[in-house]
Parts: sequence; structure tokens; C-alpha cells
Amino acid sequence: MLSENNLERVEKVKQEASISSLDNNIKNHGSSICPFCLKHKAYVYEDKFFICYSSKCGIKGDVISINSKLNNLSYFESLSQLEKSLGISNNFQEVVKERTLVYEQALEIYKYILLDTKEGKIARDYLEQRNIDITTISMYDIGYAPSSNPLKAYGIDSKLLAKHQLINNYDSNEYYANRIIFPIRDTYKRVIHFVGRYCGSVPKNKEGEDSLLRYKNSKSSDNIPTITNYFIFEDFLNAYNNLEDVFICEGYPDSLSLMQLGLQTLGILGLQGLTKQYYKLSKLNSIVCVFDNDFYDIDHPNDKLKGQFKSWVQIIPQLVEIQQILPKLKIYTWMVPDYVNDKRTKDVNDYLTISKLPKDELLKKINIEKKEFVIDIINRWGSDITKHLDLLKVISATGRGQELLSNYISDELKYSNPINYALKVFES
Ligand SMILES: [Zn+2]
Repeated sequence: MLSENNLERVEKVKQEASISSLDNNIKNHGSSICPFCLKHKAYVYEDKFFICYSSKCGIKGDVISINSKLNNLSYFESLSQLEKSLGISNNFQEVVKERTLVYEQALEIYKYILLDTKEGKIARDYLEQRNIDITTISMYDIGYAPSSNPLKAYGIDSKLLAKHQLINNYDSNEYYANRIIFPIRDTYKRVIHFVGRYCGSVPKNKEGEDSLLRYKNSKSSDNIPTITNYFIFEDFLNAYNNLEDVFICEGYPDSLSLMQLGLQTLGILGLQGLTKQYYKLSKLNSIVCVFDNDFYDIDHPNDKLKGQFKSWVQIIPQLVEIQQILPKLKIYTWMVPDYVNDKRTKDVNDYLTISKLPKDELLKKINIEKKEFVIDIINRWGSDITKHLDLLKVISATGRGQELLSNYISDELKYSNPINYALKVFES
């Protein structure tokens, strides 16, 4: 069993090492010869996950476990060997420990300011307006970083603050000034990241655009793996297996408002980081992906994006991949309604704040409206042959939906010339 000190080492090696470099036969993308059973049935995803689809072999795993099997090493020996070959230095663990300590100290100060000081009132008001109550604030250790440089004032060494990117090098102001602090913990409950939400409306520049980032994420220091390797609230994953209907949602406040209602939620930071964390989803039976209803502008310069839902463009391709890697995972999608009582809702938090739905009613509504992934994408993409390769991937992984797809394939292609259909699919 790996101890908590090794967690970052594992993450870092997974991030930097590639499976295709372990063995000449293994190729990233497409099928290759399995080095264990020598059948031509091995697949590698993102160069990070190996799986052999031969029923007798079935070996699968990440770069560390595949390296251990190839070279007859324990998982830990394999980890050390890969670190050496990647040139990862020995003091990496020490830096991680030090950062954890500085983050924990900073969080204590941010929490105190939010809950117990005059300076924190603006943040308390903001959170109240977003329907995030005091119990939730305490339970999830939410804090506030005012502009008065509190970390230095409370005596944390400036050198450490600079090293771990909590102050800006240039002007020495603290990095999260004027922001609500949402901490993220790993499965060992250690603080490993902060999300800083600007408190209030973001000031505009002369051109009328936001002059600051609405959200700031911790910067990675000394090559410690970045936050794309963690889920918001992933600490609860450690305690459970085979969870049903875990909600997947983007952004801290949205995830928090679902969590606050008592729904087990994994948040992603940014729309791009889901596939990389597929192995954590393998502990779950089913997930419900909650999508905001916002879409790209109808005048967007990219024709492919015009008027498209952002979630569909960004998340769905990742779900296609995840479904292939985890064929047994039941995936559902649910889109947040765009209006409540004639009010436009912009995201989950907004929807829950305006509708004031209690947990049971929300769950009832979601259970009626959620769509099974394979059916959802067939309904949406069925008539677009350029998407049929993705549809076929999901259909073959889940064994569901074939009849539905056939409704969209023209008879000419279906009966007279299936080769034409295959060619069309692969050309697209
Ligand atoms: Zn094999």
C-alpha cells in the first residue's frame, strides 16, 4: 500500500511517463501487439492507460503497473525506476511536504478572516447571496483573502510564500487578494490546491471586458503536479466503492451547491481535465454529468462552435473515451434548465438559488430528465455521419443502442453497401 507521501510521486510519474515508451510493440492510439499475450488486441489511451481486450489476458493498468509487470518489479520499485529514468529529483517529496504545511497555515488564516473579522463581511455577504450557508462554509473550510496581505501579517515567511506562489513575485502582493478561497484536498485530506473566486463583480477595463480573472487556481511550484490531476471533493472517494449516481460538475461553486444539498459530487476544474482522471471513476457504478446550459456565441468565428453547447463540445468527447476505457460505468447526462419562473439561469448554483428546490425534488426531477449517455448522443449525433465513429465506439463498449443508430443510417448504406458506410465513417 502506498503511503500518503507517495501520492504526488505517483501522480507526477503518471503525468510525465508514457506507456508507449515502455515497450517497442506498444503504440499510443490504435491497436498494438500485447507484450503479455502477444495477441494484437492491446490499446493505449492518451499514452496513460493500457488495456488488452483479449479475454484470456485482460491485463490493464497505468504506466507504473504496466512497467512493473513488464520488468517483474513491485509497484513501488516500478515507481522508483520510472522516477530515475525521468530524472525526478529526490527532494521532490520534501518540497511537497513543505507546500502542504504552508497551504494549511494559509488556509487557517483565510478561514479566520472570513468567519470572524470585519474584513470578511464582504465575502460572507457574497456567499450568502450565492446561497452558501455558514454550515457549508465551516464544513468545507472556505476562507477569504482580503487585499491587506494577511499571510505576511500573520507571520508566514515571505520566502516560503513566494516559493509556493502565494505572493506575486513582481509586486509582492498576495496572489489571492480580494478572493474567496475554496480549498481542494486529496484523498488523504491534505490541502493541495486553492481556487480563488473574485469577491463581487469583476472590474471592467476600458473595452468593457473583465480586467481580472474571475477564478484563479494555485500555480504549480517546483513541478508539483497540477490540479488537473485532482477532483474537487475527491477526498470522499477514498471511503467508498461502487457508488451510484455520483454527480460530475464543473467549477467549485456549482459542485459545492450540489454537495450542500447532500448529493455526492466530484467537481472538475476547467472542462478539459476529466479523461485524465478516469481511473478514479472506475470505483463508481454510475455517474450523472451535470451540464450548464451555456453555449458559444451564435457569431462565434469558428463555424463548428457557433451556437453549440460548451459542454457538448468539451465534455462529450471525453465521455466517449471514458466509456471505452470503463465500459461498465453507467453514464447519464442532465442539463440544467435554462429558465426558472421566467428568470434565465446561468449555472447550477444559479438554478438552485433561484428555484430553491429541496434535495428530494431535485433528485426526482433529475431522475426523470437525465438521459443515458449512449441514447443521448445517438439522438443528437445520429444524423451526422462525421460523428458515427464516436457513436460506434460507445455502442460497442456498452453493447447498447445499435438499433437506435440504425434508424439514422440510410437504407442505401445499410443494405446495399455496408462497405460504403464503413468508408464514409472512417473518412469522416
Ligand atoms: Zn494481452
